[in-house]
Amino acid sequence: MPTESTFLLAGLFLLLAAAGWALGRFGERDEVDEAPAPLNVDYLKGLNFLLNEQTDQALEHFLNMVRVDDKTIETHFALGSLFRRRGEVDRAIRIHQNIIARPDLGSDQRDQALFSLAQDYQKAGLLDRAENMLANLAQGSRHQVEALERLCRIYEQEKEWQRAIDAGQKLEVLSGRSLALQIAHYYCELADSAVAAGDFAAARSYVKKSQAGRPRTQRGALTRAAIAQATDDSRTALRLFERVVDDASYLMTEALPQLVAIHRERDSLKALNKHLKTLIQSNQHASKEIAYTAIVHDIGGVDVIDRCVEEYMLNERTLAEFIDIQNIRDEDDRREALAKVRAALSKLAASTPRYQCKECGFSSQQLLWQCPSCKAWETQRPFASVQFDSLLQRSGIIDY
Ligand SMILES: [Zn+2]
Repeated sequence: MPTESTFLLAGLFLLLAAAGWALGRFGERDEVDEAPAPLNVDYLKGLNFLLNEQTDQALEHFLNMVRVDDKTIETHFALGSLFRRRGEVDRAIRIHQNIIARPDLGSDQRDQALFSLAQDYQKAGLLDRAENMLANLAQGSRHQVEALERLCRIYEQEKEWQRAIDAGQKLEVLSGRSLALQIAHYYCELADSAVAAGDFAAARSYVKKSQAGRPRTQRGALTRAAIAQATDDSRTALRLFERVVDDASYLMTEALPQLVAIHRERDSLKALNKHLKTLIQSNQHASKEIAYTAIVHDIGGVDVIDRCVEEYMLNERTLAEFIDIQNIRDEDDRREALAKVRAALSKLAASTPRYQCKECGFSSQQLLWQCPSCKAWETQRPFASVQFDSLLQRSGIIDY
């Protein structure tokens, strides 16, 4: 059965055939005696191949046709891009290579063909080839901005962060728009690699660069905290994790477990309780975020955190309906019931996504600084609560 893109391809042929006929019919009005040009037989033949799903024959037919008709080059580009979009990259590559091989090609058309071919290679996963072509196009062609944007994507994919920084900075100059956040994250990636390799001096220098002339990212603070932890500077680590929790409570799941661990080590849980109390008073979402983090990371034994978890469980609509905790009179029974619910929630949280991209909705278990789906940076946020409604529904425990 012909697919949707087959009809698109066929539509292109039809449009061109119609345009050719209209030109022939109305283009030269003074030659009144001349009969209108017939529909182009070549187009109709190509159309027939496409409608019969004989894509190979259609492709060959079209490649031969372009050789004899220079005016069809835009259709050629459109076909190449359609083939690429429907995943037939080999065919797209053949079409674009065929254009490039034309000896009489103008420089704009050559650049367009090279840019299209680079996109084909990128789509086919031939990143080295795409990278070389895009790097050339980034040097002054009319596609230089788009080429640099694509180069950034390729370097991100290859984790070539220094090259991504260079391309990003060039792109900032050429496009006139700020890529401050994106470039800050590139530096943070380099810093994280340096931390993993134990090169803390390099890591500090990258974090510094990530913040030079740019707004301070929370990620930079987390990386600096990780460096401080790794170099036994728990005071600095505490200060930075506290700052993250205060300024960006959506990163509670990253910072709170570390805060608890350091305070436990320093035997200063009292100070942690005081800090969290102040935070809850000034930020109405903090209590829920603390509870969610404690459930997800199974953190217990800290007064303020335990109270947040209890409040969370008592206020959760689905849970309240599921287990009637409010009506359990005996305090021990009540504690036991709450402990069981908490353990069950931890298990559920471990098997459901914890983060979701606020731009495209992509969800994941781990915090990802760059969304794998829409490629935006720092757009993931933790779910406001454990995603257990759907699990309970699926298991048949509750029925909506
Ligand atoms: Zn996204």
